[in-house]
Amino acid sequence: MSTTPGTPTHGEPGWSARPVRHLYVHVPFCASKCEYCAFYSEASEGELVNRYVRALITELGIVANELAPETVFFGGGTPTLLNCRQWEQVLDALHRLGLDRPAEWTVECNPATLSLDKARLLRERGVNRVSMGVQSLDEDLLDRLGRVHSRDMAFRSYDILRQAGFDNVNLDLMFAIPGQSLETWQRTLTEALAMQSEHLSSYEVIYEEDTPLYVQLKAGRFDVDEDLACEMYDLLVSTARDRGFQQYEVANFASGAVGADGLASRVCRHNVAYWRGRSFHAVGPSASGFVGGVRTRNRANTRLYCDTLEQGERAIDQRDELPPLARAAEIAGFGLRMNLGWPFADFVAATGFDLREEWGDDLRWLVDQGWGELLSDRFRLTDTGLRFADQVIERLLRPEQS
Ligand code: SF4
Repeated sequence: MSTTPGTPTHGEPGWSARPVRHLYVHVPFCASKCEYCAFYSEASEGELVNRYVRALITELGIVANELAPETVFFGGGTPTLLNCRQWEQVLDALHRLGLDRPAEWTVECNPATLSLDKARLLRERGVNRVSMGVQSLDEDLLDRLGRVHSRDMAFRSYDILRQAGFDNVNLDLMFAIPGQSLETWQRTLTEALAMQSEHLSSYEVIYEEDTPLYVQLKAGRFDVDEDLACEMYDLLVSTARDRGFQQYEVANFASGAVGADGLASRVCRHNVAYWRGRSFHAVGPSASGFVGGVRTRNRANTRLYCDTLEQGERAIDQRDELPPLARAAEIAGFGLRMNLGWPFADFVAATGFDLREEWGDDLRWLVDQGWGELLSDRFRLTDTGLRFADQVIERLLRPEQS
């Protein structure tokens, strides 16, 4: 299919006439700050959390008429830090606004902040998926990362989730943690998989500027061992696949029968929407949304966020409208993080551009490197290519073009 760059077919044709199908809600509070974390969050403090809840409900009211959510995702921060009364206010608002019946509704949880009452409340009111940040099951490494929970709390919270009726749970793990050996990683992986969650996510530690871990790295307190990180990643992929998980993205693994779309039934539909370049609204301090090709970011300051919402306005402080080809390039890169790669027809439907025409040289280069595979209906990355997905994304970007 041939398309002409810049025509109105690019992006999501007629998006404004269609509701947005995905909603992200950012909860910007944590019990304390982890050593590696660069997300916007701060220590919770009673009255500010109440103020945030009121402001969030106002913001939800502003975007509600553009939404018909198929997926809702509460991330953070630590959403389970809200107490039951604050959760009830948010859940009541979502119900009033008709936003509480998505097919998939995820709440992120920290094992130190979950009670059976809270888990039951969430489950009864429609939340049907929980993503639990475990990171490691080794006490020393949990300390090293500055996590507030112990390994026992991870097991206990997992039991609480099952008791409350959750049958779709993700465990989040980290590897290549300073001081972590291949054996320690294998032990955590084996124990985590024995818990039999429906989904597993696992990311290599990233050294973000201004985090304590980054400062320690720069000060020479430890070294990064890239070869060991690669071994850990290979172990992750082979172990998860051996246990019957489908790897559907660089760092994500799901159980369940594979459907007509080629994806296991327990994939995170919300994240799939991101990787496929679909529109989503994002509310809460620092939350980044993407609607009709326009990327927005809310103020990354909870007090200023509340001040603005208290005036009845959204607290957006950044708005970028990318040229169509630049936007399509980003979408190309994100979609190639998925094992299915990009079916050519889906890419045209999502962006209006043809992957083979605009990125033909890049695709051939990736094939020559052994990083990519050109099939009759799609392009996808090989196992080696997936490991270098960030470099692939860099190569595909078209920042200067419209
Ligand atoms: S709990 Fe999550 S969001 Fe909070 S500081 Fe730790 S990594 Fe960051």
